[in-house]
Amino acid sequence: MSEVQHLACLVAGQPFTGGPSLVVRNPYSGEVSGTVATVGRAGADAALAAALGFASTPTRHQRAEILDRTRAALEARREEFARTITSEAGLALREARYEVGRTVDVLRFAAMEALRDDGQVFSCDVSAQGKPRKIVTTREPLRCAVAITPFNHPLNQVAHKVAPAIAAGTPMVLKPSEKTPLVALRFAQLLYDAGLPGPMLSVLLGPTHEVAEHLVRHPDVEVVAFTGSVPVGKRIAATAGYKKLVLELGGNDPLIVLDDADLDLAVTLAAEGSYRNSGQRCTAVKRILVQRGILHAFTDRLVARTAEYVCGNPMDEATRVGTVIDEASARYLEETVADAVNAGARVLAGGKRSGALLQPTVIADVPRDARMVVCESFGPLAPILPVDDLDDALRLANSTAYGLSSGVVTRNLEHAIKAIRTLRCGTVNINEVPGFRIESSPFGGIKDSGLGIKEGVIEAIKGYTFVKTFSLPW
Ligand code: NAP
Repeated sequence: MSEVQHLACLVAGQPFTGGPSLVVRNPYSGEVSGTVATVGRAGADAALAAALGFASTPTRHQRAEILDRTRAALEARREEFARTITSEAGLALREARYEVGRTVDVLRFAAMEALRDDGQVFSCDVSAQGKPRKIVTTREPLRCAVAITPFNHPLNQVAHKVAPAIAAGTPMVLKPSEKTPLVALRFAQLLYDAGLPGPMLSVLLGPTHEVAEHLVRHPDVEVVAFTGSVPVGKRIAATAGYKKLVLELGGNDPLIVLDDADLDLAVTLAAEGSYRNSGQRCTAVKRILVQRGILHAFTDRLVARTAEYVCGNPMDEATRVGTVIDEASARYLEETVADAVNAGARVLAGGKRSGALLQPTVIADVPRDARMVVCESFGPLAPILPVDDLDDALRLANSTAYGLSSGVVTRNLEHAIKAIRTLRCGTVNINEVPGFRIESSPFGGIKDSGLGIKEGVIEAIKGYTFVKTFSLPW
């Protein structure tokens, strides 16, 4: 689909304008992909009023039906949604199709969870201090949730906020990335068409201080769920005041490759982890720590494998790596590589940039204090760092401010167990990429990557509810 989409923010299911028009460009061609009529503070206030005033929460059955009908509609329009993602994010069409498939899973699992009873019963005659009573727990929806999402998975990140909120019965005001608003607005329309009551979801874009910061600060908002960069996440934490926060922030995930690794598997995981989604995943492989005994064989094989990741027009079927989000980001990555080279690293494959396209790039002999090692680099870079042994690898893996996820490639169970015990991060995947998950499993980081509060459909529902306890003489 290449026609320009003209959309407007949605307040309680209805178009709402009042701010300037946002122009969204295709990062590959520079052509206009769409426009969005934005809102100002009045739009944000109207969305909050609609959410806070909503009292007719659909039943569990109705919520599950809404989610399930949305899943069916998305499956039927899979290609159209994938093309919208590619036109605004520059991700290769095959990646965009994969993302739509993930979103289908989110909707399926959220529909299942909407039906699942979540209470517990505690008999109270189990203690000398107790009585013959029962304590029962039940999860109640929060009055209003605010969600703010990034550009890198423009549909799936939105679904990971919205679908659990619907399953929980919690009204939500969503502020998607202004770089990728089109697919978010179209997804919201699917939900309304499937029967979602308008006040349960508004989708807003507009000036940061009038919309995003106003929502974050608002005292009647009971939870802010944010996925994005560390600096913005910390700013939100400072702005939000007294309310629940779910922060899913940046990552700098290591893939540790030990001498006893299956070499083929290690190369596959390094390439997939570094280059999928143009390297723009919070859990992309951002540092490859390779034990010296396998270093040369691994490096040669990764260079050869990198040639298979065709980089070019994201709409071409043959393309595996599309653009990064914009030319400024590609230039930043180019500078990061140049910095490492000036400090002694060698570019063994890729490294060329054209506009927002950056070739998948293998960089060897990267110093441990290089910017691309210490900070998050959000693009198709594969920096290789030699390590002496497992202990050295674990120290280096733990040395950054981040703690999102990790992968370890080894055939040795003792090494695997030691890595699981020692790595200070939210996830350790043995013989898998750090990004491996399913949409319902708990996901999230510690340190600068988050506060240890997980998402994934089941955990996210907990974030959008509170536990009420009641007791009865029984
Ligand atoms: P970003 O710059 O932090 O922006 C994320 C969202 O925050 C956008 O919607 C942005 O709005 C909004 N925002 C900006 N300033 C704000 C403020 N002062 N108050 C409230 N909201 C504000 O992140 P990004 O560049 O889009 O995404 C990439 C980052 O996300 C990477 O660091 C990546 O690792 C991280 N990420 C983390 C996870 C995870 O689960 N841990 C998953 C995916 C991505 P505008 O678009 O209007 O600026």
